[in-house]
Amino acid sequence: MALIVHKYGGTSMGSTERIRNVAKRVAKWARAGHQMVVVPSAMSGETNRLLALAKELAPAKSDTAYQRELDQLAATGEQASSALLAIALQGEGMASVSYAGWQVAIKTDASYTKARIASIDDARVRAELAQGKVVIITGFQGVDDDGNITTLGRGGSDTSAVAVAAAMKAKECLIYTDVDGVYTTDPRVVPEARRLKTVSFEEMLEMASMGSKVLQIRSVEFAGKYKVPLRVLSSFTAWDIDINEEAQSGTLISFEEDENMEQAVVSGIAFNRDEAKISLLGVPDTPGIAYQILGAVAQANIEVDMIIQNVSNEGKTDFSFTVHRNDFARASDLLKSQIAPKLGAKQVIGDAKICKVSIVGIGMRSHVGVASKMFRALSEEGINIQMISTSEIKTSVVIDEKYMELAVRALHKAFDLDQTQA
Ligand code: ADP
Ligand code: ASP
Ligand code: MG
Repeated sequence: MALIVHKYGGTSMGSTERIRNVAKRVAKWARAGHQMVVVPSAMSGETNRLLALAKELAPAKSDTAYQRELDQLAATGEQASSALLAIALQGEGMASVSYAGWQVAIKTDASYTKARIASIDDARVRAELAQGKVVIITGFQGVDDDGNITTLGRGGSDTSAVAVAAAMKAKECLIYTDVDGVYTTDPRVVPEARRLKTVSFEEMLEMASMGSKVLQIRSVEFAGKYKVPLRVLSSFTAWDIDINEEAQSGTLISFEEDENMEQAVVSGIAFNRDEAKISLLGVPDTPGIAYQILGAVAQANIEVDMIIQNVSNEGKTDFSFTVHRNDFARASDLLKSQIAPKLGAKQVIGDAKICKVSIVGIGMRSHVGVASKMFRALSEEGINIQMISTSEIKTSVVIDEKYMELAVRALHKAFDLDQTQA
């Protein structure tokens, strides 16, 4: 008898009919003899709805008091969906109990709205499983050392599920969603995108961190750290399909680069419209400049992604970096009011209408000319590249956001991702 963790996303939990469908599927797995732990997201739209209500009452603020209430509020979405799923399972004749993260407890640090899981005490869950119950644990949330409810960042239920699977040494963690696996790129943007039967852990990590929101980046990090067998599959298949067929469907995140893996140079294309670019022009090119700029940004708790410093010209240089769009105003203010005057920089300019497009593939390690092929495909579409960054298995560019879809389609074609690979 194996312990299996299922995670169901917002769309999969989006109505009572869909919740009933989830309950029937989970009951099928339980009746096949598995111990089942299920981690649901809030019903689709619910997290956005709650956060919008907060904004209506008081504009978003970064102070701890406000952020705490956002978490207290947003966590209710998953509490509701979890209880509804437990009720639906009971309606299917299956003993079931739901727990909020704080009841388990899933302990996190105290960074509201982006907390990290520190530990999970599974004693209560194991005791319920031993009594033959399906145990449902709210996604997206935990509790800090002072008993405050925290949330794990948007899309965080993936991370809850993988962390629970890791803590309980589950045989497998199945992430059920509204697509039937991980595709070469978002199938909503490129209809010709193909499903990958397997994707290496490293590629999935890059794709998630470059913006493929099919899995939250931290869930992939957890899976890597604890070697949790992870699969992404559809919740929209008929609930009563053969369980073995279901268990083999979707996309397996693989930890071994075996010969069954598709041997493409580029496996996928990710994109992210959540970033903004800020440049400091005419900064004196002296030791410690990068530290003085980015140190102050980090102190303000603003995460920086891409960084570019130009070669200096007559002792001056330009320094650009990207931040999350939500932090754009704060970062610009900080640079304009404090850093630029202190360093004697000439000007601060910013652009929130950018996006980042990345090609990802472990084949890039052993092939040359991949980045230049990317740049050629973009130039053929007349798309200007504003920033470039590379790592061993990915190349990313920052471009004007209005060209995002065009760029993704052009790259998908240039790297033959719409063709079935041998
Ligand atoms: P859930 O609510 O189940 O967590 P998400 O909306 O968070 O679902 O993630 C699933 C969505 O991710 C898909 O509907 C798809 O539009 C998007 N997506 C982005 N990149 C990819 C990709 N490479 N493969 C599959 N889906 C992707
Ligand atoms: N409900 C949360 C969100 O919308 C968490 C999740 O769905 O994974 O971001
Ligand atoms: Mg998600």
